[in-house]
Amino acid sequence: MAQPTPQHDLDRAAGIEVTDTFEPFAQRNDIFTRAFWDPAVRTARTDAFFASYRMEASPRRGDGFSQRDFALRNASWLISDIMTDRFAEDGRREGFQAAISADTPVAPVQMEIDDKRDMSREIKKIARFFKADLCGITAIDPRWHYSSRVDVRDLSDAPNDLPDDLTSVIVLGHEMDAELVDTYPAATGGAATGRAYSQEAATVMQLAAYIRNLGYEAVPSMNDTALVIPYALKAGLGEYARNQMVITPEFGPRLRFSKIFTSLPLAHDTPKPRGVRAFCDICTKCAEACPVKALPFGPPEVGGNNVSALKGVRKWTSDAEKCFGFWAKLASDCAICMRVCPFNRDFSRWSQRLWLRLALSPLRRLALWLDRNRGGRTKPSDWWSAP
Ligand code: SF4
Ligand code: SF4
Repeated sequence: MAQPTPQHDLDRAAGIEVTDTFEPFAQRNDIFTRAFWDPAVRTARTDAFFASYRMEASPRRGDGFSQRDFALRNASWLISDIMTDRFAEDGRREGFQAAISADTPVAPVQMEIDDKRDMSREIKKIARFFKADLCGITAIDPRWHYSSRVDVRDLSDAPNDLPDDLTSVIVLGHEMDAELVDTYPAATGGAATGRAYSQEAATVMQLAAYIRNLGYEAVPSMNDTALVIPYALKAGLGEYARNQMVITPEFGPRLRFSKIFTSLPLAHDTPKPRGVRAFCDICTKCAEACPVKALPFGPPEVGGNNVSALKGVRKWTSDAEKCFGFWAKLASDCAICMRVCPFNRDFSRWSQRLWLRLALSPLRRLALWLDRNRGGRTKPSDWWSAP
C-alpha cells in the first residue's frame, strides 16, 4: 500500500482527493475554449453571447437585459479586455488563454530575504495595497497546471511554459459587488463579474511588477496557465463547495481568484477546513435553483460526464455544457448558484458571523433552516433606482 506523503496530507487537509485516473487538464477542453472549436458547444447562440460583450448582438428584452444593463456590464470588463487583447494577434489571449506578459524586467540586483515569513507578511500587505481582498500563499504544484494552453489564432495547442525557478504561488481573492450579485441572472450581475476581473488584472500586474523590482521572477495569471481552485484551497483561503466555488469565511462564494507564480522566497499557508463540506452535504440550494440542473445533488464523484470535467479527482462537478448553454441563452453569465448559497452573506456584520459559526458547527441543520427564506433576487430595475 502506498505510504501517505506530505503531498497527500496537504491534499487531504485541502479536501482534494486525487485518484490513479488523474489527468492534467488541457485548456482546449474548458467550456469557453470549446465554444470556439467544438460543434457540441458552438452554436449561433454562443457566437451571439460573445458578440454581446462588444455591444454587437441585440439585447434581449426584459429587466436586466436592456442596452444600459449590457453597457454597464461591458464597461466593467474594459480594463480586463484591454489587457487581454494586447497580444491576441500573437495567439496569446492573456489572463484567459496565456499567462500575462511581464511589462517590466526583473531587477538586476536581488533584495536579500532573511526571513520567508516576514516576506510573506509583506506580500500580503502589498496585495491589500493593490486592492486584493484576500491573499494566501502555497507551493507550486504542477498537477494543476494545464498540460497545454491554446493559441487563439488557430485554436491549436501551445506549450504552457513557465520559468524553471518558480517555487510559490500567491493566490489573490477579489470580492464581487454584493448588490449586483443579488440581481443574477442579468447583465447587471455580469457587471459584478467584469469589475472583479478588471480589478484582478490591475492587481496581479502591479503585485508581480513589485516582486520583479525586488529582483525575483513573477508571472501574473488570471484564469490562464493553471486551475486556481486547488491553489486557493491549498493556500487556506476557503473550502470547495457543491456550486463549484471556493467558500471563504470573509465573502462566502462571492469572489474571483487570481494568482502569481514566483521565485520570491516565501513561507506557505496551510489549508483550513472549517466545515463547509459537511454543510454542503445537507444542502442542495444551489442545485435546486440552477435553471438547467447543471449541478449535482449527490456526494462528490470522480470525474464527470462531459469533456470539460477534470479527470481523476473526486469532487462536485457541474455539467459545463448545460451551464454554458444557459449563459448563451441569456447572453450573459449566470451565478444564481452563487446568489442563493447560504454563505453569500455580509460577514462584516456580527449577526452574519454568528450564523457562520452555527453553519460550521454540528448545529448546521438549524443554520440551513434559518436560511430558508434568503437568496431571493433583487430586480435589476430596483438596483438602478436605489439611491
Ligand atoms: S451558473 Fe447558473 S446555469 Fe451554471 S450551474 Fe450555476 S445556476 Fe446553473
Ligand atoms: S447552496 Fe448549499 S450546497 Fe450549494 S454551495 Fe452553497 S452551501 Fe453548498
